[in-house]
Order: sequence, then structure tokens, then C-alpha cells
Amino acid sequence: SQVPALTLNNGVKIPQLGFGVWQVPDDEATPAVATALEAGYRSIDTAAVYGNERGTGRALAASGIAREDLFVTTKLQNSDQGYDSTLRAFDASLDRLGLDYVDLYLIHWPMPSVDRYVDTYKAFEKIYSDGRAKAIGVSNFLPEHLDRLAKEAAVVPVLNQIELHPQLQQAESRAFHAERSILTEAWSPLGQGKGLLEVPTVVAIARKHGRTPAQAVLRWHLQLGNVVIPKSVTPSRIRENIDVFDFELDADDLAALAALDEGKRLGPDPTVFTAGA
Ligand code: NAD
Repeated sequence: SQVPALTLNNGVKIPQLGFGVWQVPDDEATPAVATALEAGYRSIDTAAVYGNERGTGRALAASGIAREDLFVTTKLQNSDQGYDSTLRAFDASLDRLGLDYVDLYLIHWPMPSVDRYVDTYKAFEKIYSDGRAKAIGVSNFLPEHLDRLAKEAAVVPVLNQIELHPQLQQAESRAFHAERSILTEAWSPLGQGKGLLEVPTVVAIARKHGRTPAQAVLRWHLQLGNVVIPKSVTPSRIRENIDVFDFELDADDLAALAALDEGKRLGPDPTVFTAGA
């Protein structure tokens, strides 16, 4: 495929751009993922709590693409944190996906007040050592949570998937991750398609390159070194979002986008979010 790969800290390769399926109902996930695979995506980001692992798995199976050419990520939902419950939940995810391993398994939220992410991660290490996840990582972790894992667990997470877009640039987390050889994966990379794609700076940069605002924003992520997983169920946008490997933003563009950071979260605050627990 046309998407370049980044190498995780355990040597496994991940496509730098993948397809996210949050808020896609199970029956719509099948055609959406099929369209993405036809367009050249090979990495799919789902989660138990999205309720679409079955629909996603059906599209993977029907695609005829060799398993080793796919990169499938799923996530442990909050209610299943804990050592034994994680092992059971992982089996159930694999079963729904119709797979015998995933490429990447993530803890969806740290829920520090619940205080089960270390035990949960120890179950992840077991799943990893059994070869049923080729890599393990986390999502929505703050540096303090990663620090605790570094002290109490053995395997360094390969990446941390966090909310990240030009209006929430996460400089502190990105620097921390880079120091620990953890990749940064950006969720809601397009700012959920809300205000960000109409911001005049974004529109002007897109126009300058003869591209769409979504494509300009995706280029910004790629040039920063982020792994990125834009979502759409619209076939033309699914194709548009992967068509970003034949142009580059210049230093002026990057400087103008850097100025858009306003610490604007669209999603929950990881220090307090415990939904489903
Ligand atoms: P996103 O930033 O990818 O935006 C998606 C929305 O933007 C679409 O629904 C559509 O309205 C619009 N859009 C998409 N392509 C467009 C285009 N080319 N032009 C114009 N508008 C376009 O938002 P997201 O879905 O929140 O995030 C992407 C993925 O990240 C999710 O699907 C999911 O896989 C993951 N995610 C993870 C977490 C987490 O807690 N780990 C949270 C949210 C999302």
C-alpha cells in the first residue's frame, strides 16, 4: 500500500495512517471498512466499546487481504479492567473480530481513581507474551500514568493513543513519549470534522496546496510523526483522507498551524473519565 510504516519500539511496523470506526454502527462498519481496505488502508482502529468488532471483522474476512498485511487495533473497555477480566474480555474481542491475534491491544482509558490499570496492563503483558497481541499499548494516558507503568510493569507500551489535533497539540505528551520511545497516535485527528476544518488558517493552507482542509490537517500530523486514524463513512472522504502522500507542508504552513493550539479538548478529560467502570 501507499501508506508508509513506522517502527514500534518492539520492532513491529505500523502503517502511519489508519482508519477509525468510532460511532459507526456494527452493520455500517462492514461497508465502511470494506471501502477503506479498497482505498488502500491496511490499519483499522476499533474498540470493544464501539460495538462494531463483528462488523469490522466481517469486512476484514471478506477482503481476501492476507492477515499479515493487515494491522488491527482494538481496545479493552473500562468495565473490563482488572487481570482476569482483561483476559476474558480479550478472548471475547478476538472472537467478535474473527481473528486469532490482534496487531495492537490498548487500554482504552487509565481511570486513575479506579486504580486498576497496572493489573490490567499485567494481563496485557501475558497476552503479548502468548503472541495473541503483536504489540500492546495504552490510550488516554498522561505522563504520570506512563511513569507508573514504567516502575511497575516490564513491557514499554508501543504507543499512546490520545486526543490530538491542531487545536490540542499535546506538546508535553509528545515530548514525553519521544523520550520513552513511545509513539503518539492521534485520535480525533480532524477535530471530529467540527470547527477545525473551517479555521481560516487551515482553509488557506489547503487552498495553497490545492488540497482539502482535511488533507492539510492530516499532512500536519504525518509531518509531526504522529500515527493518525481519521474516521469517515463517506466513500469519497475515506479516499480523500488517504490521498495525502504526494504533497508536503512547508515551514511556513507548519508555523501557522502551530499557532492554532488552544488546548481545546473535544473529548473527556482522562484524569476523571470513568464511564462504564
Ligand atoms: P475525526 O477527527 O477522525 O473526525 C471524523 C469526522 O470528521 C467524520 O465523522 C466527519 O464528520 C468528518 N470528516 C472526516 N473526513 C472528512 C473530510 N475528508 N472532509 C470533511 N469532513 C470529514 O474524529 P474521530 O472519529 O473522533 O476520531 C478518529 C478515530 O479515533 C475514531 O474513529 C476512533 O477510532 C479513534 N478515537 C479514539 C478515542 C479514544 O479514546 N482512544 C476517542 C475518540 C476517537
